[in-house]
Amino acid sequence: MNIHEYQAKEVLKGYGVRIQEGMVASTPEEAHEAAIKLNAQTGTSWFVIKAQIHAGGRGKGEVQETGSRGVVLAKKLEEVKEKAAAILGGTLVTIQTGAEGKKVNKVLIAEDVYYPGASEPKEYYLSILLDRATGSNVIMASTEGGMDIEEVAEHHPEKIIKEWIDPKVGLQGFQARKIAFKLGLSGTAHKEMVKFIASLYAAYVGTDSSQFEINPVLKTSDDKILAVDAKVNVDDNALYRQPKLAELRDLAEEDPLEVEAGESGLNYVKLDGNVGCMVNGAGLAMATMDMIKLSGGDPANFLDVGGGANATTVEAGFRIILKDPNVKAILINVFGGIVRCDRIANGVVEAYKSIGDIRVPIIVRLQGTNAAEGAKIIDDSGLKVFSAITLKEAAERVKAAL
Ligand code: GDP
Ligand code: MN
Repeated sequence: MNIHEYQAKEVLKGYGVRIQEGMVASTPEEAHEAAIKLNAQTGTSWFVIKAQIHAGGRGKGEVQETGSRGVVLAKKLEEVKEKAAAILGGTLVTIQTGAEGKKVNKVLIAEDVYYPGASEPKEYYLSILLDRATGSNVIMASTEGGMDIEEVAEHHPEKIIKEWIDPKVGLQGFQARKIAFKLGLSGTAHKEMVKFIASLYAAYVGTDSSQFEINPVLKTSDDKILAVDAKVNVDDNALYRQPKLAELRDLAEEDPLEVEAGESGLNYVKLDGNVGCMVNGAGLAMATMDMIKLSGGDPANFLDVGGGANATTVEAGFRIILKDPNVKAILINVFGGIVRCDRIANGVVEAYKSIGDIRVPIIVRLQGTNAAEGAKIIDDSGLKVFSAITLKEAAERVKAAL
Protein backbone atom coordinates (compact mmCIF):
# COMPACT_ATOMS: atom_id res chain seq x y z
CA MET A 1 0.00 0.00 0.00
CA ASN A 2 1.28 3.42 -0.94
CA ILE A 3 0.71 6.51 1.14
CA HIS A 4 1.06 10.21 0.33
CA GLU A 5 4.28 12.17 0.82
CA TYR A 6 2.75 14.26 3.62
CA GLN A 7 1.66 11.11 5.46
CA ALA A 8 4.99 9.37 4.89
CA LYS A 9 6.89 12.36 6.28
CA GLU A 10 4.79 12.36 9.46
CA VAL A 11 5.39 8.64 9.89
CA LEU A 12 9.15 9.06 9.39
CA LYS A 13 9.24 11.98 11.81
CA GLY A 14 7.69 9.69 14.43
CA TYR A 15 10.83 7.56 14.15
CA GLY A 16 13.15 10.53 14.54
CA VAL A 17 13.90 11.02 10.83
CA ARG A 18 14.50 14.70 10.06
CA ILE A 19 12.10 15.95 7.41
CA GLN A 20 11.30 19.08 5.44
CA GLU A 21 8.45 20.38 7.62
CA GLY A 22 5.09 21.05 6.04
CA MET A 23 1.32 21.10 6.36
CA VAL A 24 -1.30 19.61 4.12
CA ALA A 25 -4.13 21.67 2.58
CA SER A 26 -7.20 20.88 0.49
CA THR A 27 -8.18 24.41 -0.59
CA PRO A 28 -6.23 27.53 -1.60
CA GLU A 29 -7.44 29.21 1.63
CA GLU A 30 -6.14 26.33 3.72
CA ALA A 31 -2.86 26.55 1.83
CA HIS A 32 -2.58 30.23 2.79
CA GLU A 33 -3.36 29.40 6.44
CA ALA A 34 -0.83 26.56 6.39
CA ALA A 35 1.87 28.89 5.12
CA ILE A 36 1.18 31.35 7.96
CA LYS A 37 1.43 28.55 10.53
CA LEU A 38 4.54 27.14 8.91
CA ASN A 39 6.18 30.56 9.00
CA ALA A 40 5.40 30.81 12.72
CA GLN A 41 6.73 27.31 13.34
CA THR A 42 9.91 27.29 11.25
CA GLY A 43 10.55 30.92 10.35
CA THR A 44 10.53 30.09 6.63
CA SER A 45 9.42 32.89 4.31
CA TRP A 46 9.62 30.84 1.11
CA PHE A 47 7.16 28.02 0.63
CA VAL A 48 7.16 24.92 -1.55
CA ILE A 49 3.75 23.84 -2.81
CA LYS A 50 3.68 20.15 -3.62
CA ALA A 51 0.85 18.21 -5.28
CA GLN A 52 -0.05 15.10 -3.26
CA ILE A 53 -0.64 12.19 -5.61
CA HIS A 54 0.60 8.62 -5.53
CA ALA A 55 3.21 9.17 -8.23
CA GLY A 56 6.63 10.72 -8.53
CA GLY A 57 8.09 13.11 -11.08
CA ARG A 58 5.80 15.88 -9.84
CA GLY A 59 8.49 18.55 -10.03
CA LYS A 60 8.75 18.09 -13.79
CA GLY A 61 5.09 17.16 -14.25
CA GLU A 62 2.43 19.56 -15.49
CA VAL A 63 -1.09 20.34 -14.35
CA GLN A 64 -3.13 20.01 -17.56
CA GLU A 65 -5.67 22.75 -16.83
CA THR A 66 -3.24 25.49 -15.77
CA GLY A 67 0.24 24.57 -16.99
CA SER A 68 1.58 24.74 -13.42
CA ARG A 69 4.28 22.29 -12.34
CA GLY A 70 3.39 19.78 -9.63
CA VAL A 71 6.00 21.26 -7.27
CA VAL A 72 6.38 25.04 -7.20
CA LEU A 73 8.13 27.57 -5.05
CA ALA A 74 6.42 30.67 -3.62
CA LYS A 75 8.86 33.36 -2.52
CA LYS A 76 6.12 35.38 -0.86
CA LEU A 77 3.30 34.40 1.46
CA GLU A 78 0.90 36.29 -0.82
CA GLU A 79 1.70 33.97 -3.74
CA VAL A 80 0.83 30.74 -1.92
CA LYS A 81 -2.94 30.89 -2.38
CA GLU A 82 -2.80 31.54 -6.11
CA LYS A 83 -0.07 28.98 -6.78
CA ALA A 84 -1.91 26.34 -4.74
CA ALA A 85 -5.09 27.13 -6.68
CA ALA A 86 -3.27 26.38 -9.94
CA ILE A 87 -2.53 22.86 -8.68
CA LEU A 88 -5.53 21.89 -6.53
CA GLY A 89 -8.35 20.16 -8.41
CA GLY A 90 -6.19 19.91 -11.52
CA THR A 91 -4.97 16.84 -13.39
CA LEU A 92 -1.27 16.31 -12.92
CA VAL A 93 0.57 14.38 -15.61
CA THR A 94 4.05 13.08 -14.76
CA ILE A 95 6.24 10.36 -16.25
CA GLN A 96 4.77 8.02 -13.65
CA THR A 97 1.04 8.78 -14.02
CA GLY A 98 0.48 7.85 -17.65
CA ALA A 99 -1.12 10.27 -20.10
CA GLU A 100 -4.42 10.44 -18.24
CA GLY A 101 -2.72 11.92 -15.16
CA LYS A 102 -3.98 12.04 -11.60
CA LYS A 103 -6.40 14.43 -9.94
CA VAL A 104 -4.81 16.52 -7.20
CA ASN A 105 -7.01 16.72 -4.09
CA LYS A 106 -4.39 17.96 -1.64
CA VAL A 107 -1.20 19.98 -1.61
CA LEU A 108 1.60 19.97 0.91
CA ILE A 109 2.84 23.41 1.90
CA ALA A 110 6.46 22.86 2.89
CA GLU A 111 9.25 25.03 4.26
CA ASP A 112 12.00 25.99 1.82
CA VAL A 113 15.07 24.00 2.76
CA TYR A 114 17.35 25.03 -0.12
CA TYR A 115 18.27 28.31 1.58
CA PRO A 116 21.81 29.67 0.95
CA GLY A 117 24.53 29.39 3.59
CA ALA A 118 28.05 28.23 4.31
CA SER A 119 27.91 25.45 1.68
CA GLU A 120 25.72 24.68 -1.33
CA PRO A 121 22.65 22.52 -0.61
CA LYS A 122 23.26 19.06 -2.08
CA GLU A 123 20.77 16.34 -3.05
CA TYR A 124 21.34 12.62 -2.39
CA TYR A 125 19.33 9.49 -3.07
CA LEU A 126 18.47 6.90 -0.44
CA SER A 127 16.19 3.91 -0.55
CA ILE A 128 15.58 0.76 1.45
CA LEU A 129 14.13 -2.29 -0.24
CA LEU A 130 13.45 -5.90 0.46
CA ASP A 131 15.90 -8.01 -1.54
CA ARG A 132 14.14 -11.32 -1.98
CA ALA A 133 17.12 -12.91 -3.68
CA THR A 134 19.33 -12.58 -0.59
CA GLY A 135 16.53 -12.62 1.98
CA SER A 136 17.74 -9.34 3.41
CA ASN A 137 17.06 -5.65 3.24
CA VAL A 138 19.21 -3.49 1.05
CA ILE A 139 19.99 0.19 1.43
CA MET A 140 20.78 1.95 -1.82
CA ALA A 141 22.39 5.35 -1.81
CA SER A 142 23.77 7.73 -4.39
CA THR A 143 25.27 11.18 -4.69
CA GLU A 144 23.06 11.61 -7.77
CA GLY A 145 19.99 12.69 -5.83
CA GLY A 146 16.94 14.43 -7.24
CA MET A 147 17.39 12.63 -10.56
CA ASP A 148 15.63 9.68 -12.07
CA ILE A 149 17.43 6.83 -10.30
CA GLU A 150 16.65 4.33 -13.07
CA GLU A 151 18.74 6.51 -15.39
CA VAL A 152 21.61 6.54 -12.92
CA ALA A 153 21.36 2.76 -12.51
CA GLU A 154 21.50 2.29 -16.28
CA HIS A 155 24.26 4.72 -17.21
CA HIS A 156 26.30 4.98 -14.01
CA PRO A 157 25.72 1.82 -11.98
CA GLU A 158 28.98 2.52 -10.13
CA LYS A 159 27.34 5.58 -8.61
CA ILE A 160 24.86 3.46 -6.69
CA ILE A 161 26.08 2.25 -3.31
CA LYS A 162 24.45 -0.89 -1.95
CA GLU A 163 24.59 -2.19 1.59
CA TRP A 164 22.78 -5.38 2.55
CA ILE A 165 21.32 -5.60 6.03
CA ASP A 166 20.75 -8.94 7.71
CA PRO A 167 17.24 -8.64 9.19
CA LYS A 168 18.22 -10.82 12.16
CA VAL A 169 20.99 -8.49 13.36
CA GLY A 170 19.65 -5.24 11.95
CA LEU A 171 21.58 -2.23 10.69
CA GLN A 172 25.03 -2.04 12.24
CA GLY A 173 26.68 1.28 13.04
CA PHE A 174 29.62 0.59 10.74
CA GLN A 175 27.24 0.05 7.81
CA ALA A 176 25.60 3.46 8.22
CA ARG A 177 29.05 5.05 8.58
CA LYS A 178 30.26 3.24 5.46
CA ILE A 179 27.36 4.62 3.41
CA ALA A 180 27.90 8.18 4.72
CA PHE A 181 31.60 7.85 3.94
CA LYS A 182 30.99 6.57 0.42
CA LEU A 183 28.65 9.51 -0.15
CA GLY A 184 31.69 11.70 0.49
CA LEU A 185 30.41 13.23 3.72
CA SER A 186 32.54 14.33 6.63
CA GLY A 187 32.17 16.25 9.88
CA THR A 188 28.68 17.27 10.98
CA ALA A 189 27.05 16.17 7.71
CA HIS A 190 28.57 12.68 8.12
CA LYS A 191 27.20 12.35 11.67
CA GLU A 192 23.82 13.65 10.55
CA MET A 193 23.68 11.17 7.67
CA VAL A 194 24.53 8.25 9.98
CA LYS A 195 21.70 9.31 12.30
CA PHE A 196 19.38 9.79 9.32
CA ILE A 197 20.09 6.31 7.96
CA ALA A 198 19.69 4.67 11.37
CA SER A 199 16.32 6.29 12.06
CA LEU A 200 15.17 5.63 8.51
CA TYR A 201 16.02 1.95 8.85
CA ALA A 202 14.17 1.81 12.18
CA ALA A 203 11.13 3.34 10.45
CA TYR A 204 11.37 0.83 7.61
CA VAL A 205 11.36 -2.12 10.01
CA GLY A 206 8.82 -0.59 12.39
CA THR A 207 6.27 0.10 9.67
CA ASP A 208 6.64 -3.32 7.98
CA SER A 209 7.47 -1.59 4.75
CA SER A 210 8.74 -3.25 1.62
CA GLN A 211 10.03 -0.05 0.04
CA PHE A 212 11.23 3.36 1.15
CA GLU A 213 12.54 5.87 -1.36
CA ILE A 214 13.81 9.24 -0.24
CA ASN A 215 14.72 11.26 -3.31
CA PRO A 216 16.09 13.73 -2.62
CA VAL A 217 17.68 13.49 0.79
CA LEU A 218 19.08 16.99 1.24
CA LYS A 219 22.23 18.23 2.89
CA THR A 220 21.28 21.80 3.70
CA SER A 221 23.72 24.67 3.48
CA ASP A 222 24.18 24.36 7.26
CA ASP A 223 24.88 20.63 7.11
CA LYS A 224 21.54 19.22 8.22
CA ILE A 225 20.41 16.02 6.54
CA LEU A 226 16.68 15.77 5.87
CA ALA A 227 14.03 14.10 3.73
CA VAL A 228 12.63 16.44 1.05
CA ASP A 229 10.51 13.73 -0.55
CA ALA A 230 9.28 10.40 0.83
CA LYS A 231 7.85 7.39 -0.90
CA VAL A 232 6.70 4.72 1.52
CA ASN A 233 5.24 1.38 0.50
CA VAL A 234 3.83 -0.66 3.36
CA ASP A 235 3.52 -4.42 2.93
CA ASP A 236 -0.21 -5.14 2.47
CA ASN A 237 0.19 -8.41 4.35
CA ALA A 238 1.25 -6.50 7.47
CA LEU A 239 -1.64 -4.04 7.51
CA TYR A 240 -3.57 -6.18 10.00
CA ARG A 241 -0.95 -5.30 12.61
CA GLN A 242 -0.43 -1.73 11.44
CA PRO A 243 -3.92 -0.30 12.01
CA LYS A 244 -2.66 3.30 12.16
CA LEU A 245 -0.97 2.94 8.78
CA ALA A 246 -3.97 1.11 7.31
CA GLU A 247 -6.03 4.23 8.06
CA LEU A 248 -3.75 6.25 5.77
CA ARG A 249 -5.01 4.40 2.70
CA ASP A 250 -6.43 6.84 0.14
CA LEU A 251 -9.00 5.03 -1.99
CA ALA A 252 -9.23 8.02 -4.33
CA GLU A 253 -5.71 7.11 -5.52
CA GLU A 254 -6.66 3.57 -6.44
CA ASP A 255 -8.51 2.19 -9.44
CA PRO A 256 -12.20 2.00 -8.37
CA LEU A 257 -12.62 -1.43 -9.99
CA GLU A 258 -9.59 -2.75 -8.12
CA VAL A 259 -11.03 -1.43 -4.85
CA GLU A 260 -14.39 -3.10 -5.57
CA ALA A 261 -12.66 -6.38 -6.46
CA GLY A 262 -10.65 -6.26 -3.25
CA GLU A 263 -13.88 -5.95 -1.27
CA SER A 264 -15.18 -9.13 -2.94
CA GLY A 265 -11.94 -10.97 -2.20
CA LEU A 266 -10.90 -11.04 -5.87
CA ASN A 267 -7.43 -10.38 -7.22
CA TYR A 268 -8.07 -7.93 -10.03
CA VAL A 269 -5.65 -5.75 -11.96
CA LYS A 270 -7.01 -3.51 -14.69
CA LEU A 271 -5.18 -3.58 -18.03
CA ASP A 272 -5.68 -1.78 -21.34
CA GLY A 273 -6.96 -4.57 -23.61
CA ASN A 274 -10.36 -5.70 -24.88
CA VAL A 275 -10.77 -9.29 -23.62
CA GLY A 276 -11.97 -9.57 -20.05
CA CYS A 277 -10.83 -12.70 -18.32
CA MET A 278 -11.84 -14.57 -15.22
CA VAL A 279 -9.64 -17.41 -14.08
CA ASN A 280 -9.10 -19.50 -10.96
CA GLY A 281 -5.46 -19.39 -9.95
CA ALA A 282 -2.81 -16.79 -10.70
CA GLY A 283 -0.66 -19.08 -12.84
CA LEU A 284 -3.57 -20.13 -15.00
CA ALA A 285 -4.56 -16.46 -15.27
CA MET A 286 -1.11 -15.59 -16.62
CA ALA A 287 -1.29 -18.46 -19.12
CA THR A 288 -4.77 -17.34 -20.16
CA MET A 289 -3.55 -13.82 -20.79
CA ASP A 290 -0.78 -15.23 -23.01
CA MET A 291 -3.36 -17.22 -24.88
CA ILE A 292 -5.56 -14.18 -25.42
CA LYS A 293 -2.55 -12.39 -26.88
CA LEU A 294 -1.78 -15.31 -29.18
CA SER A 295 -5.35 -15.31 -30.45
CA GLY A 296 -5.00 -11.66 -31.46
CA GLY A 297 -6.71 -10.06 -28.49
CA ASP A 298 -5.38 -8.06 -25.59
CA PRO A 299 -6.28 -8.85 -21.99
CA ALA A 300 -8.48 -6.18 -20.39
CA ASN A 301 -7.58 -7.36 -16.94
CA PHE A 302 -6.03 -9.94 -14.71
CA LEU A 303 -8.66 -11.57 -12.51
CA ASP A 304 -8.01 -14.47 -10.20
CA VAL A 305 -11.20 -15.61 -8.49
CA GLY A 306 -9.25 -17.99 -6.26
CA GLY A 307 -9.50 -21.69 -5.58
CA GLY A 308 -12.95 -21.70 -4.02
CA ALA A 309 -14.82 -19.93 -6.83
CA ASN A 310 -18.62 -20.13 -6.60
CA ALA A 311 -21.68 -18.40 -8.08
CA THR A 312 -21.17 -15.34 -5.87
CA THR A 313 -17.53 -14.80 -6.79
CA VAL A 314 -18.28 -15.45 -10.46
CA GLU A 315 -21.05 -12.84 -10.38
CA ALA A 316 -18.84 -10.30 -8.60
CA GLY A 317 -16.12 -10.94 -11.19
CA PHE A 318 -18.58 -10.56 -14.06
CA ARG A 319 -19.88 -7.25 -12.77
CA ILE A 320 -16.40 -5.84 -12.40
CA ILE A 321 -15.27 -6.95 -15.86
CA LEU A 322 -18.45 -5.56 -17.46
CA LYS A 323 -17.85 -2.12 -15.95
CA ASP A 324 -14.79 -1.79 -18.17
CA PRO A 325 -16.12 -0.19 -21.39
CA ASN A 326 -13.23 -1.59 -23.47
CA VAL A 327 -14.28 -5.19 -22.95
CA LYS A 328 -15.44 -6.82 -26.24
CA ALA A 329 -15.48 -10.45 -25.08
CA ILE A 330 -15.09 -12.33 -21.84
CA LEU A 331 -13.12 -15.49 -21.41
CA ILE A 332 -13.73 -17.60 -18.35
CA ASN A 333 -11.05 -20.20 -17.86
CA VAL A 334 -11.60 -22.43 -14.87
CA PHE A 335 -9.85 -25.58 -13.83
CA GLY A 336 -12.14 -27.80 -11.81
CA GLY A 337 -9.91 -29.15 -9.12
CA ILE A 338 -11.29 -28.08 -5.78
CA VAL A 339 -14.39 -26.70 -7.48
CA ARG A 340 -16.47 -28.81 -9.88
CA CYS A 341 -17.03 -27.56 -13.44
CA ASP A 342 -20.81 -28.11 -13.36
CA ARG A 343 -20.98 -25.83 -10.30
CA ILE A 344 -19.04 -23.12 -12.07
CA ALA A 345 -21.20 -23.52 -15.17
CA ASN A 346 -24.33 -23.09 -13.05
CA GLY A 347 -22.70 -20.10 -11.40
CA VAL A 348 -22.00 -18.52 -14.79
CA VAL A 349 -25.56 -19.08 -16.02
CA GLU A 350 -27.04 -17.74 -12.78
CA ALA A 351 -24.79 -14.69 -12.78
CA TYR A 352 -25.59 -14.06 -16.44
CA LYS A 353 -29.33 -14.13 -15.80
CA SER A 354 -29.04 -12.06 -12.64
CA ILE A 355 -27.01 -9.31 -14.33
CA GLY A 356 -29.07 -9.34 -17.55
CA ASP A 357 -28.33 -7.25 -20.62
CA ILE A 358 -24.83 -8.59 -21.23
CA ARG A 359 -23.88 -7.46 -24.73
CA VAL A 360 -20.52 -9.14 -25.12
CA PRO A 361 -19.98 -12.81 -25.94
CA ILE A 362 -18.75 -15.03 -23.17
CA ILE A 363 -16.52 -18.00 -23.78
CA VAL A 364 -16.28 -20.48 -20.97
CA ARG A 365 -13.53 -23.02 -20.90
CA LEU A 366 -14.00 -25.62 -18.19
CA GLN A 367 -11.49 -28.37 -17.64
CA GLY A 368 -11.17 -30.92 -14.88
CA THR A 369 -13.82 -32.53 -12.69
CA ASN A 370 -17.21 -32.77 -14.46
CA ALA A 371 -15.97 -30.74 -17.42
CA ALA A 372 -18.39 -32.37 -19.87
CA GLU A 373 -21.38 -31.77 -17.56
CA GLY A 374 -20.29 -28.16 -17.22
CA ALA A 375 -20.05 -27.69 -20.97
CA LYS A 376 -23.53 -29.17 -21.41
CA ILE A 377 -25.04 -26.75 -18.89
CA ILE A 378 -23.49 -23.85 -20.79
CA ASP A 379 -24.63 -25.15 -24.20
CA ASP A 380 -28.16 -25.84 -23.00
CA SER A 381 -28.59 -22.50 -21.27
CA GLY A 382 -29.77 -20.72 -24.43
CA LEU A 383 -27.66 -17.72 -23.44
CA LYS A 384 -24.94 -16.01 -25.45
CA VAL A 385 -22.35 -18.15 -23.70
CA PHE A 386 -20.07 -20.51 -25.58
CA SER A 387 -18.32 -23.47 -24.10
CA ALA A 388 -14.91 -24.66 -25.08
CA ILE A 389 -13.09 -27.58 -23.61
CA THR A 390 -9.57 -27.07 -24.91
CA LEU A 391 -7.49 -23.94 -24.68
CA LYS A 392 -7.18 -23.93 -28.47
CA GLU A 393 -10.96 -23.96 -28.92
CA ALA A 394 -11.27 -21.16 -26.41
CA ALA A 395 -8.69 -19.12 -28.32
CA GLU A 396 -10.55 -19.64 -31.59
CA ARG A 397 -13.82 -18.59 -29.97
CA VAL A 398 -12.20 -15.44 -28.62
CA LYS A 399 -10.74 -14.63 -32.02
CA ALA A 400 -14.13 -15.11 -33.69
CA ALA A 401 -15.78 -12.88 -31.09
CA LEU A 402 -13.52 -9.87 -31.60
P1 GDP B 1 9.04 14.65 -7.25
O1 GDP B 1 9.39 15.49 -8.43
O2 GDP B 1 7.65 14.10 -7.34
O3 GDP B 1 10.05 13.59 -6.98
O4 GDP B 1 9.00 15.65 -5.98
P2 GDP B 1 10.15 16.08 -4.95
O5 GDP B 1 9.57 16.16 -3.61
O6 GDP B 1 11.35 15.20 -5.08
O7 GDP B 1 10.49 17.56 -5.39
C1 GDP B 1 10.96 17.84 -6.68
C2 GDP B 1 12.00 18.94 -6.65
O8 GDP B 1 11.48 20.12 -6.07
C3 GDP B 1 13.21 18.63 -5.80
O9 GDP B 1 14.14 17.79 -6.46
C4 GDP B 1 13.76 20.02 -5.59
O10 GDP B 1 14.57 20.38 -6.70
C5 GDP B 1 12.53 20.88 -5.57
N1 GDP B 1 12.27 21.27 -4.17
C6 GDP B 1 11.72 20.53 -3.19
N2 GDP B 1 11.74 21.18 -2.01
C7 GDP B 1 12.33 22.37 -2.26
C8 GDP B 1 12.66 23.50 -1.44
O11 GDP B 1 12.45 23.53 -0.23
N3 GDP B 1 13.24 24.56 -2.07
C9 GDP B 1 13.52 24.56 -3.38
N4 GDP B 1 14.09 25.65 -3.91
N5 GDP B 1 13.25 23.52 -4.17
C10 GDP B 1 12.67 22.44 -3.62
MN1 MN C 1 11.33 13.04 -5.50
